[in-house]
Amino acid sequence: MAEKTLFQKICDREIPADIIYEDDLCLCFRDINPQAPVHLLIVPKKAIVRIARAEAEDQATLGHLLLTARKVAEQEGFAEAGFRTVINNGPHGGEEVPHLHLHILAGRPMTWPPG
Ligand code: 5GP
Repeated sequence: MAEKTLFQKICDREIPADIIYEDDLCLCFRDINPQAPVHLLIVPKKAIVRIARAEAEDQATLGHLLLTARKVAEQEGFAEAGFRTVINNGPHGGEEVPHLHLHILAGRPMTWPPG
């Protein structure tokens, strides 16, 4: 069996995290090194590696991550002010943890394009 990813270990409560939301399909917790006043990570419990490895059977889970972004934005009170969602994919995408995750950045104006 493949070794668990860092985020799988957080999902399984083997590593602590500041969890703010959980349901059957995903977990949302605060990033340990925040890049904005609010920096959340939404992680599917199924260890999909990255978008480039997602399968047709993952469609519902992928859609669920975006609807969870809406849910936590409302829960945390920044839905109307706005926020950024980011998924880093592979080496050129800046991905560090090979377990799909949606970054949610909020609490300040963002610039575009990113570096
Ligand atoms: P990536 O670069 O793979 O898109 O993002 C990985 C993110 O995971 C980074 O923003 C990093 O700060 C965050 N991170 C790395 N290790 C931990 C950890 O142990 N706990 C939490 N909560 N976040 C982590």
